[in-house]
Amino acid sequence: MKPRPFLKPLFFFDLDDTLVDHHAAEEGAQRETHAAHGALFGGIAFSDWLAAYRRNNLRLWHEYGIGTIDRPTLTARRFALPLADLGLDAAHGVAVGASYWDAYSRNWRLIEGAEDALEHASQVGVVGILSNGFRETQRAKIERFGLDRWARHVILSEDVGAMKPSRIIFDAAATAAGGGERRRLYVGDSFATDVVGAKAAGWFPILFDRHGKGAPEPVVFVTRLSDLKPLF
Ligand SMILES: [Mg+2]
Repeated sequence: MKPRPFLKPLFFFDLDDTLVDHHAAEEGAQRETHAAHGALFGGIAFSDWLAAYRRNNLRLWHEYGIGTIDRPTLTARRFALPLADLGLDAAHGVAVGASYWDAYSRNWRLIEGAEDALEHASQVGVVGILSNGFRETQRAKIERFGLDRWARHVILSEDVGAMKPSRIIFDAAATAAGGGERRRLYVGDSFATDVVGAKAAGWFPILFDRHGKGAPEPVVFVTRLSDLKPLF
């Protein structure tokens, strides 16, 4: 009997707030947007604007995730709803959104240790990126930082037609990497989508708990990407 060929393990990463600091970029971009539209925001404090945006954006992404709204609706409401919440003219949503998108991409930064973690993972396994989010935005981040130097596979929810925590997107990632029985690790910062989704799909989840928030159930976690090395 021929021995089974050794299949390299899969090391897949979430993108936002695991490799790229989305949270800080979002806040920086909203700060610039708030300042650029001073006449519109008038007496509204930046912190109130940011909170209204995040609250509405979270709800819209949830609705998009379960399929009750489509992408154009999400895009149209993303800035209009928080403006309306604060008693401002929602018609300014388009201009505010344009400012935001311009500033958002300028504010992208890699999270400390991202390149080293990808480099090390690529030496011992097959590296991929598995992300929810819009195709052009996520591909632009990967291109900006040259993450395809390490990531041989990029699996995006829009391409697959399913979002984390759905098993479908994790299965699509395993298949894209050639399938077969092998170790599959997934690193992400969200317990609800990354850890729960990966685990249910038979991947070994590692929570990137950068701010030490903890998790509702026991899970292997790191607080710095440099701590991933021994786990690979
Ligand atoms: Mg994330």
